[in-house]
Amino acid sequence: MGSIELRGAEKWFGEAQVIKGIDLTIADGEFVVFVGPSGCGKSTLLRMIGGLEETSRGQILIEGRDVTAEPPYRRGLTMVFQSYALYPHMSVRDNMGFALKAAGRPRAEIEEKVRKAAEILRLEPYLDRRPKDLSGGQRQRVAIGRSIVREPTAFLFDEPLSNLDAALRVEMRLEIAKLHQRLGATMIYVTHDQVEAMTLADRIVVLEFGTIAQVGAPRELYERPANLFVAQFIGSPS
Ligand code: ADP
Ligand code: MG
Repeated sequence: MGSIELRGAEKWFGEAQVIKGIDLTIADGEFVVFVGPSGCGKSTLLRMIGGLEETSRGQILIEGRDVTAEPPYRRGLTMVFQSYALYPHMSVRDNMGFALKAAGRPRAEIEEKVRKAAEILRLEPYLDRRPKDLSGGQRQRVAIGRSIVREPTAFLFDEPLSNLDAALRVEMRLEIAKLHQRLGATMIYVTHDQVEAMTLADRIVVLEFGTIAQVGAPRELYERPANLFVAQFIGSPS
């Protein structure tokens, strides 16, 4: 269902090449984490997969289909934004149902999908509230709920927890792990937090200046880092 493949994917911003020929295959249902220092291209690569950023060269395939030239809404993926991207004047229910409503889905279907997402995220008691009357963790769950209702084949997360405090980050990390178990959807998750990467990932992709420094299971990277850059990033004791 949700396999994703990058073939020689490149991104140029004018003269600057920020993604340099990435080859990567992500299996259906896999949880892949992109890590690497600020500016290495994590967000750009994720946005290329989601179609929010054009791919300059190479191909992106979803479920074996070349989507390189397709707009975001045709890719069957969803990008989970930080909770501040909620609509402040809408209730939780309307925030979660918005994309379906915009797509002209029938009201009964929207209600059912919002109900199901609210149950998964334990948001039922808050459906009539506005975002400002929620805690940070609840808001982030609404942001995730907006994606769930669309039943995407894959979820793309770009540092979704970076503006939450430490305790909430732990809570939401567990929430995302549970969500992955329950939905079984492919997830690509960008973070610069080693703990998030080590605990969430089936495989970690370490990026260095737009190239892949190493790909592997967390344990593999920790025990057998390919080079000093990876070792320092994954925090293996030397
Ligand atoms: P990360 O998410 O790993 O911090 P980004 O993908 O945001 O990195 O950025 C990678 C590189 O691309 C950086 O050098 C950044 O300055 C550059 N970049 C990102 N977006 C643009 C843009 N729209 N125009 C020009 N350069 C950009
Ligand atoms: Mg980024």
